[in-house]
Amino acid sequence: MQAAVVPAIHGKWEVKDVPTPHPATNQVLIKIHASGLCYTDVHITEGHVPSSAFPRTIGHEPAGEIVELGSGVTSRKIGDRVGVPWVQASCGRFEWCQRGKPMFCAQQIATGINTPGSHAEYLVAYADATTLLPNGISYEQAAPVFCAGYTVWSGLRFADPKPHEKIAVLGIGGLGHLAIQFSKAAVFLHRWYNALKG
Ligand SMILES: [Zn+2]
Ligand SMILES: [Zn+2]
Repeated sequence: MQAAVVPAIHGKWEVKDVPTPHPATNQVLIKIHASGLCYTDVHITEGHVPSSAFPRTIGHEPAGEIVELGSGVTSRKIGDRVGVPWVQASCGRFEWCQRGKPMFCAQQIATGINTPGSHAEYLVAYADATTLLPNGISYEQAAPVFCAGYTVWSGLRFADPKPHEKIAVLGIGGLGHLAIQFSKAAVFLHRWYNALKG
């Protein structure tokens, strides 16, 4: 398959032929239809993010279609449209995992960090880490949600705004424009919920 490979720290990305991966136990193979770009890709290229050795394929905002199942996968099917977030798996044992914050786990398995990333034709990911995409959303729309979207959504959830409180979004860029849309959607959801309660 072809992949955008970063040959070395500070290196120029190169489109290269690399071996097509195969899913191991509990993993799936995804044919990538869209892979969002993010400034973290630049940080990784510049060596700011601790990670495996170069040369490497980065990309952590994948959306695509499952084309192969590893052994033991029962929750996903060939043809499923999915996306994959940054953290695919974590140790589940030590402090941050016990506190429900696997994104701080030192042993996390992260897309494009310590596994090959999605700026490639195919990506292997843990089946349980994939999220099914609703039919109404395109691959291109879905891909950035798996990094930029998760980031602002987690910010909204940590802030836990109450009815009649205001939400300020600072900086309307790749993340901020999603934060505005999520905030607006949450208001409608809240009104709908209240209407149901009568
Ligand atoms: Zn990102
Ligand atoms: Zn952990």
